[in-house]
Amino acid sequence: MDVRLTRAGNRMVGLAMMLVVSAVIGIVVVAAAKSPADPNAPSSAADPKAPAAAKPSPAPLPAKYVVLTFDDGPDAEYTPKVLGVLAAYEAKATFFEVGENVHKHPELTKKIHEAGHSVQNHTWSHADLRKLGAAAFQQQVGSTDQAIQAQTGRTPACLRPPYGGVSAAVRQRAKAMGKDLVVWTVDSRDWTKPGAAAIVQRVLKNVHNGSVILMHDGGGNRSQTVAALPAILKSLKAQGYGFRTLSC
Ligand SMILES: [Zn+2]
Repeated sequence: MDVRLTRAGNRMVGLAMMLVVSAVIGIVVVAAAKSPADPNAPSSAADPKAPAAAKPSPAPLPAKYVVLTFDDGPDAEYTPKVLGVLAAYEAKATFFEVGENVHKHPELTKKIHEAGHSVQNHTWSHADLRKLGAAAFQQQVGSTDQAIQAQTGRTPACLRPPYGGVSAAVRQRAKAMGKDLVVWTVDSRDWTKPGAAAIVQRVLKNVHNGSVILMHDGGGNRSQTVAALPAILKSLKAQGYGFRTLSC
C-alpha cells in the first residue's frame, strides 16, 4: 500500500473524527444552553406522581409553594389581564374552566395552555353536581373535557365541583371518570367584591405552604381580582413561595 495514501487516509479519518467530536460538542452546548431556561423541561423525575400525559412543570418543583387557581373562565376581558399579571411575576396557575366559556373563547384556553398554565375541568355550565343524575353528570364533565382537550391536547384529570359541592355520588362518579376532585384551602372570596385590598389581605393572612388559593378570572366583574393580584404575587414571592400547578 502506498505510504502517502495511507497517511492521507489517516488525515482524512482524523479530520472526520474532529468533525464528529465538534458536532457532539455542539449538540451538548445547545442542549445545555436550552435546558435551564426551558419552562417545558420534563420534571418527571422530580414528580413521580405526574401522569405521562400531564403538562410538565418547570423543574425542580419549589419546596415552599402555593397553588394559584382561577375559576369560571375563560373570560374575554379578565382572563388576558390575569395572564398578564402572572407573566409579569413569572407565576404559573391552574385554571378551572367552564366548558361553555371554553366553547365561546377557545383561543383563550389555548393561550392559557401555551403560557404554561394548567387547564382543568369546572363543568360545562357551572352545575351543582350534587343535584345531577348520572347521565347529566357525565354530560357536564365529559363535554368540558372534550372542549378543553381540543384546545390543549390534554384531557383534564382534575375536576373542581362548582360551589365546592361534593357528595358520595359526586365522589363516586368523578372517580369512575378518572377525575380527582380538587377544592381549595384559601378562599379569597373575590366574587363578593370586597375591594382589592380586602382580597389581598384575606389571601396573605391565610396562606401557608401548600395552600390552594381560590380566585376567579370569569363569571362576573373580576376587576378587583386583577387589581389584587400584583400585591398578592409580590408578597408571596418575597416570602419565598414558588408556584405549582395541578395536573392531578
Ligand atoms: Zn366556579
